Amino acid sequence: MAPERLYLFDTTLRDGAQTNGVDFTLGDKLTIAKMLDDLGIDYVEGGYPGANPTDTQLFAEDRKLGATFTAFGMTRRPGRSTSNDPGLAALLEAKADAICFVAKSWDYHVRVALETTPEENLASIRDSVGAAVATGREVLLDCEHFFDGYKANPQFALACAKAAYDQGARWIVLCDTNGGALPHEVETVVSEVIKLIPGDHVGIHAHNDTEQAVANSLAAVRAGARQIQGTLNGLGERCGNANLVSIIPTLKLKPEFSDRFEIGVSDAQLKSLAHVSHTLDEMLNRAPNRHAPYVGESAFATKAGIHASAIMKDPATYEHVSPDHVGNRRKLLVSDQAGKSNVLAELERIGLKVDKDDVRIMRLLDVVKEREAIGYAYEAADASFELLARRVLGEVPNYFDVEKFDVNIEQRDNAVGQRVTVSLAVVKVKVDGETLISAAEGIGPVNALDLALRKDLGKYQGYITGLELTDYRVRILNGGTEAVTRVLIESQDESGERWTTVGVSPNIIDASFQALMDSIVYKLVRSGAPA
Ligand SMILES: [Zn+2]
Repeated sequence: MAPERLYLFDTTLRDGAQTNGVDFTLGDKLTIAKMLDDLGIDYVEGGYPGANPTDTQLFAEDRKLGATFTAFGMTRRPGRSTSNDPGLAALLEAKADAICFVAKSWDYHVRVALETTPEENLASIRDSVGAAVATGREVLLDCEHFFDGYKANPQFALACAKAAYDQGARWIVLCDTNGGALPHEVETVVSEVIKLIPGDHVGIHAHNDTEQAVANSLAAVRAGARQIQGTLNGLGERCGNANLVSIIPTLKLKPEFSDRFEIGVSDAQLKSLAHVSHTLDEMLNRAPNRHAPYVGESAFATKAGIHASAIMKDPATYEHVSPDHVGNRRKLLVSDQAGKSNVLAELERIGLKVDKDDVRIMRLLDVVKEREAIGYAYEAADASFELLARRVLGEVPNYFDVEKFDVNIEQRDNAVGQRVTVSLAVVKVKVDGETLISAAEGIGPVNALDLALRKDLGKYQGYITGLELTDYRVRILNGGTEAVTRVLIESQDESGERWTTVGVSPNIIDASFQALMDSIVYKLVRSGAPA
């Protein structure tokens, strides 16, 4: 039997933007939309044209997406005609492939919040959906508080859904707006709805207030719904929306779903999932949740020595799926409680052959523990870990010495009288007995230092020309004036290989310098540069 198609609808840019402390710029929204498109999401809900300048502009842009870009807004207001409602007009004029209306489906809300009659609410749905269908767009109706509404008055809730379907809405989306529904309730209610509206026209929009948004979404699919709405990393107001980052791998990797359904996300796209999830966090300037299912750094991490030795024999002993499906990786923690077997496994992963009784293993473990105690994070910086391991094993040549560096920051007026802040770095390096001095200006002190350091490394220059700094993250570790700064630098080379290095110091420039040095030396080691 051919698998049935399930559609994914992302509302990170609309519902996710309701999250406390989240404020997307136009640029953010375009970047995230592109990322969702690249991931294989079917629908990207951009926002609320007419409601604020960012969304209005977003819907005026040519976004060049494969996904169905969707505008969100309300049905016509009670007592108005569709032609005499500016909100509706803005929505109908938006450059969108689809229009998603939100409408009340709980009679209590119609009476108390909207202060109108059930009949007028139904008429508003019919008129608005009809007007949008007439523009040739795909139309969705979000039935707000559908599950509560259904419990209170099933006939009315169903009538709202049916009214939109009969007017040609492509999808009737059942919303658990306050997130209070439980999976068995969702399954029961959806089963009733699909007696009236075919399941391939029914969607689920779940909120996470009982931490069951993912479970509720899957329950709706079991009952026959064929569109799932959610957000990246479960972003959304209060406790968030259904987390697509958990739903997608479950649909792809769990046979109950993968045998019956197919989604727009290919196996190759699934491998980018961890990266997508972390990229969003970086954009929001927050630390990724280490314990996030599937994509968290700890999702496939094992600390206890006995588990680590079993995982080395066969990963299936402790893992429900293989981490590489979602672009994550198995991690045997090299940290405090780590046993020798963890270190051995890490060494094996990076291709370092060491006898398990070699005394240098215990020495490496001690160094790692000492350095992690003062702030180094080797779990996040594999390249620095690999260098440390190779150094303890005596394998890293002393390619060059930085005899001194100097970074200056200057604020002044430029030639056209604008106030500018510029950074200048000078680096003195000794390569092969020869002293080389390089200077560079940068947009910031670290940028200047990076440019100066990589400007002239003598005979090693050829190895690092393709090297590029792709990410720079700073965390202040223990607050106050005693704070220590940890810098993580992600680098990339011409072949696309990426690696992360770490530096720790009370001084941010010093911490950055350590991480930069590790990055360059790592590249020389990997390229097999001669000593
Ligand atoms: Zn919502």
